[in-house]
Amino acid sequence: MIDVELESVSKRFSRSGEAAAVDDVNLTIGAGEFFTLLGPSGCGKTTTLRMVAGFYFPTQGHIRFGGQDVTRLAPNKRDTGMVFQNYALFPHMTVAQNVAYGLKVRRVSRAESSRRVNEALAQVHLDGYGSRRIEQLSGGQQQRVALARALVIRPRMLLLDEPLSNLDAKLREETRTEIRRIQRDAGTTSIYVTHDQAEAMAMSDRIAVMQAGRVQQIGSPREVYHQPATAFVARFIGRSNVLSLPVTAADTTTVEVALPGAGTIASGAPEGHGLRTGDTALVSARPEHIALAGPDDPGVIRGRVTALEFTGMATHLTVDIGAEGGEVTVAAVDVPGRVDVGDRIGLRLTAERLWVV
Ligand code: ADP
Ligand code: MG
Repeated sequence: MIDVELESVSKRFSRSGEAAAVDDVNLTIGAGEFFTLLGPSGCGKTTTLRMVAGFYFPTQGHIRFGGQDVTRLAPNKRDTGMVFQNYALFPHMTVAQNVAYGLKVRRVSRAESSRRVNEALAQVHLDGYGSRRIEQLSGGQQQRVALARALVIRPRMLLLDEPLSNLDAKLREETRTEIRRIQRDAGTTSIYVTHDQAEAMAMSDRIAVMQAGRVQQIGSPREVYHQPATAFVARFIGRSNVLSLPVTAADTTTVEVALPGAGTIASGAPEGHGLRTGDTALVSARPEHIALAGPDDPGVIRGRVTALEFTGMATHLTVDIGAEGGEVTVAAVDVPGRVDVGDRIGLRLTAERLWVV
């Protein structure tokens, strides 16, 4: 177990004026932590991970493992185990030969190697699969072989780059639970890369949300969900509504805003928000924190239903609340059967859950 620190790390691939692929990233990852880099395609997740692994050197900044500067250390001197999206297994070798690869390179004796391969296969629930050929395995099993191959060297750190994207939805969910169980048992500090916010929320101790090479927010899944730092984070994590509303009063951690035709409401706000009466605040409201009401009930925002989607657990409604608010998404567990597209409806926001971004 070891902690990792990235201090002002940037990566530029060309000398020309192009934007940096990774731009001034600062992260401290605790020993044993499961830390996720989350963001849309092209935001710099893989580049960041590859700098931690040593496959790329940063243009600027420092990387430290347990306080030791590894910024320019060769990958094979860093003791990291890497798992890739496409598994990168050797198809002509058996499962055991694949898992043993890193031990062979490290000249571990044959007896010790065989013992550790069996141990690693047991860790990923593939006991007895050692003599199978890679092409005889399902995608999920191949991914577990890749994980065993990374774990067998007892790495100081596990680096996983979108390891589940080649699996179908159900297997992806099962495997993410499995990866987290294995990581907890092994206690290995892990950096996980994904563009899938649900995956990041389900697996991580903490998440860094990235956009265009920069870190937008670092926090626990609950923090990034309930207290998004920016409109980008609010929209990228879950389906948030970001409403632009006039401020009617403000103190250090609360901002009161006016709702279209429905009085005022208090919203949580980060310290140092700097908003004053008369400013416009961007307020994030989660779909499940908006309640449905009748269109003529007092104190509701009035709108018209423009789309309705039954998902099983909840019904998602899109409601047009007019020029000031645009469209709002609502997730309701109980929707009266008579509500349909085209209907007038009232919306009530829950003050405890609003957040200024
Ligand atoms: P992500 O993993 O989040 O999808 P990447 O880290 O792969 O993003 O890419 C970040 C940016 O850097 C992208 O604009 C990408 O085109 C660019 N990039 C990545 N690798 C290279 C490379 N080897 N050479 C030049 N540009 C690259
Ligand atoms: Mg990538």
